Amino acid sequence: MNDADRAWQNQVLELGCIVCHREGTDPAKAEIHHIRRGLGDLVDLSRVRDNYHILPLCPIHHRLGDCGTAIHAGIREWEEAHANEEYLFLEVLELIRDKQNDFNIIGN
Ligand SMILES: [Zn+2]
Ligand SMILES: [Zn+2]
Repeated sequence: MNDADRAWQNQVLELGCIVCHREGTDPAKAEIHHIRRGLGDLVDLSRVRDNYHILPLCPIHHRLGDCGTAIHAGIREWEEAHANEEYLFLEVLELIRDKQNDFNIIGN
């Protein structure tokens, strides 16, 4: 992981959990989840994960919750209960863009 990866990761983490966000609860402190694009349940562990396609998820929505709550407890159930990983990634991009716009307005 290089400096740019780390900076991106911090920006994503600052949003807090994207699922909490959608549920309208105060976004809990997040950890990084790497998206396994298009692989669904057939996760190929040999495939190199990239450091750009990441989601901020709180521990409950990431690994500690039950099936349907935590992504690592069952991706299919999780996506049914919440949204597709890639769709959520687009939301992350949007939230970050909004933040940057706000910042620019304040900066002016
Ligand atoms: Zn959460
Ligand atoms: Zn993960």
